[in-house]
Amino acid sequence: MTLSLVSSISFFPIFAAEKSALDKLVDGNQRYVHSTTICQEDWSAERQAHIHGQAPFAVILTCSDSRVPPEIIFDQELGDLFVIRVAGNVVDDFAIGSIEYGVTILGADTVLVLGHSNCGAVDGALKGLKFDNHIQEVLDAIQPAIEAVQGTSENVLEKAIKANVRHVESKLKSSKPVLAELLEQGSLSILGAYYDLSSGKVEFLD
Ligand SMILES: [Zn+2]
Repeated sequence: MTLSLVSSISFFPIFAAEKSALDKLVDGNQRYVHSTTICQEDWSAERQAHIHGQAPFAVILTCSDSRVPPEIIFDQELGDLFVIRVAGNVVDDFAIGSIEYGVTILGADTVLVLGHSNCGAVDGALKGLKFDNHIQEVLDAIQPAIEAVQGTSENVLEKAIKANVRHVESKLKSSKPVLAELLEQGSLSILGAYYDLSSGKVEFLD
């Protein structure tokens, strides 16, 4: 079942004239930073247009932080982005299953892992905070990024946030059976980025 979905995805037509998912995200973030949004305030027509289906061009995995809404910071409309949000943008099987759905069933050809400045989850893991509840599982999942920046002195939080993005990215890139195979076929991009809460700018890490 899964394999037939994977092989069918590589036959999706690619139109040279159309902007890539990455270009759409970069352009949208520029509009957001300069407050030149193309998104309308009257959503009724957009809503009606998407009743019967969706074909998002990108999957965004980001933090639950209330200041990081992907549709707003990339200036996209209903139906454009398939979004998974978990504190610290970490992944478990549910998140990976959702990403696989966005890619194989809905046809998105780009997955973006988006971390952000002042991330409380990464900060908590960096400070070694301990919880006797499920928050601890989130911090534990961020631990590899904390280990990766050990010994550095300047901008440790920013480095840890970026290391966490890269760690999650590599987890997705090796995820079998779907994501790793699509990457190998060249029909999927998995990218990492860092959102600055102050400037509104998204820095692509790859
Ligand atoms: Zn966060």
